[in-house]
Parts: sequence; C-alpha cells; structure tokens
Amino acid sequence: MSKPTTNRAKAIVDAAAAGGWAVPAMCLYNIEGILASVRAAEAKDSPVILQLFPWAVEYADGLLVHAAAEAARNAKVPVAVHMDHCQSPEMVKRAADIGGFDGIMVDMSHYEKEENLSLTKELTEYCHARGIITEAEPGRINGGEDGVKDTAELEGILTTPAQADEFIATGIDWLAPAFGNVHGKYQPGGPQLQYDRLQSIRDSTKGRVELVLHGAGAEWFGTDNGELLRKNIAHGIAKCNINDIINDPYKEFWAMNAATMGLTGLIEGGTGIMQRETERCMEWMGSSGKAGSVKRG
Ligand SMILES: [Zn+2]
Repeated sequence: MSKPTTNRAKAIVDAAAAGGWAVPAMCLYNIEGILASVRAAEAKDSPVILQLFPWAVEYADGLLVHAAAEAARNAKVPVAVHMDHCQSPEMVKRAADIGGFDGIMVDMSHYEKEENLSLTKELTEYCHARGIITEAEPGRINGGEDGVKDTAELEGILTTPAQADEFIATGIDWLAPAFGNVHGKYQPGGPQLQYDRLQSIRDSTKGRVELVLHGAGAEWFGTDNGELLRKNIAHGIAKCNINDIINDPYKEFWAMNAATMGLTGLIEGGTGIMQRETERCMEWMGSSGKAGSVKRG
C-alpha cells in the first residue's frame, strides 16, 4: 500500500526536516490549548501540530478532535491534528474513523516485538487507506505523561538502526527513537541523551522516515532557552512533542488565581499563558516565520 501523498501533518514535518528546524507538537487537553496553539502559530507565522491523547476521545468522543480539526482548517498558517500514544488497536481504528486526525501515533510498544511489528503494519495500512500518516516508537521510551498509560513497569529499550529498519518496513511515516529520552522526570543532572545513537539512526533512515522527539520536559528543556531542543534538531529531529512546558504554567495560573478570578478571566488568562509559552517554543525550534515553506496539498 502506498503512503498518503497529500497530508498536512506530513507536509509540515517534511518542510521542517528539509529546512533544519522542528515543528512544535503541542499536547493539548482542552479548547484553551487548541486556541493558544493556533493563535501562537498565527502570531509567529509558524506551522504547528495539535496533539490529542486517546484520553480526549475517551473523555469527549470526537468533540475535541473536531474542534481541533476545525481550528486547523480555519488557521492562516499550516496546522495539523495528530493523536499521540494511541496504545490499543481498537483506539487507532476509532480515531482513524472519527475523521479529523491527519496523523496517529501507533504505539504498540507494550506488546512483544513481533506482535508490535505486525500490529503496527496492519494499523498503518488502516490509517494510510484513510489518508492518515502514522508514527511509531521502536524501542521503548520510559515513563508516562498525563493521559497516557504509564510504561514505568516496563524496561526502557534504546533504539538501534536495525530496529528502526524493521519499523520502517511496516510502512510508518515518522519514527520516535529512544536514545536516553524519557517521559516525565529525568534523573538529577539532566537527560543523558546519546546523540551518537540519534545521529546514526538519522543517517540510516534519511529519506525514508522523519524523526520525532518525545520527552522534552519542562524541567530541562524548558529552562535553557531551547539549547537542548536545538541540539536535538541539529541531529535530525523534525517534530518535538511539548507537554508540561505549556501545561504546567497554565495549571499554575489557575492555582494562583482560582480563588479570586471569575471563570472567563481564568480561561482567557490561561489561554494567554499557553500562547506565550508556545510562541517561545516556536522561537527555540526555529519554526517561527516558516509557515510559507510548507507545501500546500
Ligand atoms: Zn511520548
């Protein structure tokens, strides 16, 4: 089966890979997050990817997905909608059938390798037939994030180029390597990222898949003016998932002001905080001003 050729998510990440920058893929939980991401993208003339977890589908069925898709359609800059960490075959199919997702991460990393590979292939074909591209995680990125099943009880496994090849054979479009990156908290001292491993995966997979980064947490990646992000981008990362870098300040704003402010003030102020943090990510990753470099399908 051939891969989708006109796909918004693919067009954005292809442009990033070709241009040596990365698109921020914002993990969102509500309408405020969707609004903040699109407003930031328009303000910075940047593409953006709106990411929802299966939680969003379980919680609100297609409502948040359709809202994100409509926001993407109406935006003045390229915006795509992607599902992050879809961990069951049933949810992959449900998400693909909702209509609105441009991409889905088929995360079968909690299955044994052979089953992981065969499920990834089957589900990638299912998504491609509907014009949706897929992302997968060879190896296993440790830890969990809000709305995702924790893999802490499973041992992290680092990705090798040979393993990347096995996943590319399933037909996936994007690959999320495990090279010392984790979800959630890093050990004291910061991430021990194996850039040689990342570079060797980039070199061996170039032209076949694009690479995406999981685990860019607020604690290390959000406090150094984007230095760590830029280092990852220099080694071939074209999409960086961002979660607590934007969502922690949003929660802090609510915690600080909930006792004294009305709901409209909290919602509008919270949206503004997320927009501000998202714009910072766009500056760090070099996606600002790059909206025009994305091919329109
Ligand atoms: Zn992740």
